[in-house]
Amino acid sequence: MTYSVPVKDMLFAMEHLAKIDQVAQIPGFEEAGLETAQAVLEECAKLCEGVVAPLNVPGDVQPSSLKDGVVTTTAGFKDAFAQYGQGGWQGLQHPVAYGGQGLPKTIGAACIEMLNSANLSFALCPLLTDGAIEALLTAGSDELKATYLEKLVTGEWTGTMNLTEPQAGSDLALVRTKAEPQADGSYKVFGTKIFITYGEHDMAENIVHLVLARVAGAPEGVKGISLFVVPKLLVNADGSLGERNDVHCVSIEHKMGIKASPTAVLQYGDNGGAIGYLVGEENRGLEYMFIMMNAARYAVGMQGIAVAERAYQHAVAYAKERVQSRPVDGSVKASATIIHHPDVRRMLMTMRAYTEGCRAMAATAAAAYDAAHHHPDAKVREDNAAFYEFMVPLVKGYSTEMSLEVTSLGVQVHGGMGFIEETGAAQYYRDAKILTIYEGTTAIQANDLVGRKTGRDGGRMAKAIAAQIAGTEAELNASATPVAKVVAARLAEAREAFVQVVDFVVAQSRANPNAVYAGSVPYLMLTGNLVAGWQLGRSVLAAQELLTKGEDQAFMQAKLATAQFYAEHILTKVAGQAESIVHGGDSTMALPMEAF
Ligand SMILES: Cc1cc2nc3c(=O)[nH]c(=O)nc-3n(C[C@H](O)[C@H](O)[C@H](O)COP(=O)(O)OP(=O)(O)OC[C@H]3O[C@@H](n4cnc5c(N)ncnc54)[C@H](O)[C@@H]3O)c2cc1C
Repeated sequence: MTYSVPVKDMLFAMEHLAKIDQVAQIPGFEEAGLETAQAVLEECAKLCEGVVAPLNVPGDVQPSSLKDGVVTTTAGFKDAFAQYGQGGWQGLQHPVAYGGQGLPKTIGAACIEMLNSANLSFALCPLLTDGAIEALLTAGSDELKATYLEKLVTGEWTGTMNLTEPQAGSDLALVRTKAEPQADGSYKVFGTKIFITYGEHDMAENIVHLVLARVAGAPEGVKGISLFVVPKLLVNADGSLGERNDVHCVSIEHKMGIKASPTAVLQYGDNGGAIGYLVGEENRGLEYMFIMMNAARYAVGMQGIAVAERAYQHAVAYAKERVQSRPVDGSVKASATIIHHPDVRRMLMTMRAYTEGCRAMAATAAAAYDAAHHHPDAKVREDNAAFYEFMVPLVKGYSTEMSLEVTSLGVQVHGGMGFIEETGAAQYYRDAKILTIYEGTTAIQANDLVGRKTGRDGGRMAKAIAAQIAGTEAELNASATPVAKVVAARLAEAREAFVQVVDFVVAQSRANPNAVYAGSVPYLMLTGNLVAGWQLGRSVLAAQELLTKGEDQAFMQAKLATAQFYAEHILTKVAGQAESIVHGGDSTMALPMEAF
């Protein structure tokens, strides 16, 4: 099944929701207007559709393998990764000073989506490399930057994130890997890291591991964790590659999905100690890792949107081909393609509405990131940073949960054939499941949304978003078209329910934390339903205006219909979700532990 990049929808979100013309007014992004975006997306689409997408099924069937400590990736991956690096794609969003192209995230996010639609397993390698680059840019010394950044930005070397240990998953306070200071300023690292994505592979000359570890005597818990660079091959003073470091892959996992991406157990220091270099200051490792994790969390959210898009395209193609049953409206007198059946339409519209809603939400968040990091006005930076911070758990948590529903519907549209591997629909479902687990499970995203992003500021940012939504409703009501009125009414109901939940979270977080946290994932899902719906409401405003100018009638009409479907089928869930959050916490915790 071929994949076709939805360039038109990506550009629509970029132009009308993320407002790329405003991003292009930020110093440094002058060249990054719509024209550039279109050219970049079209070029990236060629690589994704032509080179990376055809490797998706082979990667599932013949995953990476390990022999004598050496991981061999699926045939074709190495060559595709070389093309990715040589095309400058790894450096798209990174500084020109290190060989990157310095483009905004607003454009980069769309490229990340299409790479992941093409092949989630493949795209993980660049995703983690991006995270390593971000961490070094933020906290690395000049020497570390000079040694590692350019090679990472050009894709000659790749990066990994080493947090997880057997006893330390969601709870990083339990990290035990040790780092011992050496006389020359370096450290020796000892310990075991598990589940390390692309921890070992054959696609690049060197692998730069970013590793969380404790220096002897450091405080207990998260305040005693430091971050180290531990290269697979040591780097000589002249930049050439030297000896093999004491970090080795001892096994790779057999997984439910994303099979082509090697998930490694890495052993550090079995032969005297792996040489590592401190990033930033001792004991501030988690803070730096959060920079990397925030970038990676956003990107994992894009993975959710990406796999949903691919599953949708696959399902549409099947629904137009499979002939089964007469349509209930009598429009065809014999068995017809299943796309005639209202329930199949319901499934396809649900898939489409969630995917477009999440894409719109992520595009808006990307523009906020660009303003937060690069806008010349400090107040604009601060406001956008707060908005972006609120959006990260939504982009990650909501878009990935939505991808499970969409890929499951994708299987359902295929009927029995969906359950059969050859069809390909099942792979998206299996691949999608990891997205709600790694980079912090959905519960961890929800804790972040409830605690740091809502409770800590007394609901200020949440209410500021509610006020903006009310503004969109007013614009929709003023335009007074039938679609706009429906969307505005549903948005208003959902917004009011959201505000009620925010008040509950703020009032009860201390008094009744169990009840609030019992509703944390529902709160995340409710907020995602609302915020994605809000962005589709903004899409209605843009599409209506473009229709009056005579632009692309079919695309704009489809946008309106999709937004109306979203309002009537997804925004309507919010009121029920609010009820269960505000009133249902106690029953979640009612049974004593012995009753389970
Ligand atoms: C394929 C794959 C690739 C991975 N890649 C990497 C990688 O590259 N680098 C890396 O460092 N790690 C990686 N991981 C590890 C991944 O990030 C962890 O699996 C994840 O963070 C969850 O940790 P855990 O598996 O220990 O689950 P646990 O933390 O044991 O969680 C079990 C359950 O308890 C819940 N839970 C735990 N704490 C809380 C809480 N405070 N509140 C509410 N619920 C809670 C969780 O939500 C979950 O449902 C990868 C994992 C896999 C499977």
